[in-house]
Amino acid sequence: MVRSNPLLEFPGLPRFDAVEPGHVSPAIDELLTNARATIEAVAADPHPATWDNVVTPLVDRLDRLDRAWSAIRHLNAVVNTPALRDAFHANLPMVTAFYADLGQDTRLFGKYRALKASPAFAELDAARRRMIDNELRDFRLGGAELPDDRKTRFKAIQEELADLAAQFDEHVLDTTNAWSLYVENESELAGVPADVKVEARSAAEAEGHSGWKLTLQMPCYLPVMQYADNRELRRTLHRAYATRASELGMKPEWNNGPLIDRILQLRKEAAHLLGYRNFAELSLVPKMAQSSEEVLRFLRDLGQRAKPYAERDYAELTTFAREDLGMADCAPWDFAYAAEKLKALRYAFSEQEVRQYFPEDKVLAGLFRVVETLYGISIQEANAPVWHRSVRFFDVRGRDGALVGQFYFDLYARAGKQGGAWMDDAINRRRLDGTIQHPVAYMTCNLSAPAAGRPATFTHREVITLFHEFGHGLHHLLTQIDVPGVSGIQGVEWDAVELPSQFMENFCWEWDVINSMTAHVDTGAPLPRTLFDRMIAAKNFESGMGMVRQLEMALFDMLLHAEYDPDTHEPWESSEALLAAVRHEIAVVPRPDYDRLVNSFSHIFEGGYAAGYYSYKWAEVLSADAYSLFEEQGVLSPIAGARFRDEVLARGGSRPALESFVAFRGRPPRLDALLRHNGMTVAS
Ligand SMILES: [Zn+2]
Repeated sequence: MVRSNPLLEFPGLPRFDAVEPGHVSPAIDELLTNARATIEAVAADPHPATWDNVVTPLVDRLDRLDRAWSAIRHLNAVVNTPALRDAFHANLPMVTAFYADLGQDTRLFGKYRALKASPAFAELDAARRRMIDNELRDFRLGGAELPDDRKTRFKAIQEELADLAAQFDEHVLDTTNAWSLYVENESELAGVPADVKVEARSAAEAEGHSGWKLTLQMPCYLPVMQYADNRELRRTLHRAYATRASELGMKPEWNNGPLIDRILQLRKEAAHLLGYRNFAELSLVPKMAQSSEEVLRFLRDLGQRAKPYAERDYAELTTFAREDLGMADCAPWDFAYAAEKLKALRYAFSEQEVRQYFPEDKVLAGLFRVVETLYGISIQEANAPVWHRSVRFFDVRGRDGALVGQFYFDLYARAGKQGGAWMDDAINRRRLDGTIQHPVAYMTCNLSAPAAGRPATFTHREVITLFHEFGHGLHHLLTQIDVPGVSGIQGVEWDAVELPSQFMENFCWEWDVINSMTAHVDTGAPLPRTLFDRMIAAKNFESGMGMVRQLEMALFDMLLHAEYDPDTHEPWESSEALLAAVRHEIAVVPRPDYDRLVNSFSHIFEGGYAAGYYSYKWAEVLSADAYSLFEEQGVLSPIAGARFRDEVLARGGSRPALESFVAFRGRPPRLDALLRHNGMTVAS
């Protein structure tokens, strides 16, 4: 008898109640075999390429693989066990290799090209045409178009880059983990929060040490920099942190300096192979920004506007440090410390106090009320197989009661669950045999769980995170596009993907929204207006310094990939020299000579943000400007909401993000709202 495998049951929701680690390998084997057979059949089909004989069969097969792998990846992230991890890692290389081969399959590339050249292409709707254009672009960027010898070289470059990226990250991790400082005398830790000290004490004890063990991990490093009265201690940690993975760091073999040069050289070579002037040009192909010049203009314009505020923030901080804290010279290791002192003095409230007003039920009801009012939907709790008893499941229905989509809420932190917050797709919307396959989303957070019979209460920061992820979720769930690859968040430009999520955050700063979603966990009283006003006042504390810091990194990243030549070392003699030039242009905070933070800038050397770090600010311009229409028409205006739903959320990746934005806002994006939200008045 053949036992059924729940990972191979389609359609329907994933059978999380029945999936076991033993199901993974047989399911992936079968799905990969079937997918390869379909690829061979499509490639061998002698008929002229059509949507129905190329795209439909591939998409049907790949959708099954995607759905099963998505469920496995999800379980591995949220209920990790050794058996599941083994099953995941045993299959990961096969799945990765499958997609790499698919991306370079010259035969399929030829099919898509023929499809594009056929008279039938013009008859397809815009979403299908865009899907085909995206596929062609991705084949080209994957090197499918290169002659064989260059294809080999291109593949070798990709492999070496993948290896260097892994090394880069390992060096940062190793050096961060290896450094520690044992403090023998508790008086040296004056000012450090008690829970941080408890943690440091048990870390020392676990190693048979007396005293307290300080590390460069964020939960230790940050509070020491913010709260430790001992200036020498702060200086020691600051230097250790800023020299990680550099020639001034712990071990020469962890120095990322040589890796940076090599990574830049290989990126430049890959860009040249594909016919681009530099890596920035290549990186921008699938993005919303058109050119590095446009990005540089954007960053410099924002920098010029933000710099006076950053200078004011800096002057305030150093004056406060001198006059109130008695620091004649405020050094880099004093900034976080002085800022915390100033903030506490000025705004006089704590996150702990605020949190009592945000019990889970009130927060969820408030969130649902906002999106139901804006988008004409209703959200009801429903039943589905889940992976943990605390997971909840909901239906999203339209005004007519018809199902639109569904989502899982896995909100609490727990052991075996990856940190952070994210939205992932479980099932994508598409048309299947004449009916609609509804989208399903995972929304995962690591919020505080309920304890000791009390409901869970969230900090304001946690409420913002929940709204943020829900924005990604709505982008996935409210799509009206049935074409795979461009429905929901699929096919949305990297630098526009954070638009719906950052947009949703704005509602957490509206009194009308907040007022109705708070109730003190003990007394039931709503959040007092006076406390809310202090939260609003603190919102933009040092936002000028914060913004120029982000702009400095974004400008450095773009110039590094657009204008710096890693072979001739021109026009700057090194990446360090480039950074110094950028700082001279935009930064207000002086930096010590030993600063080597570039050597641990994983976003651009290991992650996907190379020539893309500007995306955070770019999308924030869009989200702030989109929200300004709600500020004009009423923050819960169903008319503005319907327009945002129809022109942005519903369209997904089926047209360029800029077109969607203009269709919604009636004009191209402007900077004003972002500046205003950051407390910066718009210069005329
Ligand atoms: Zn996000």
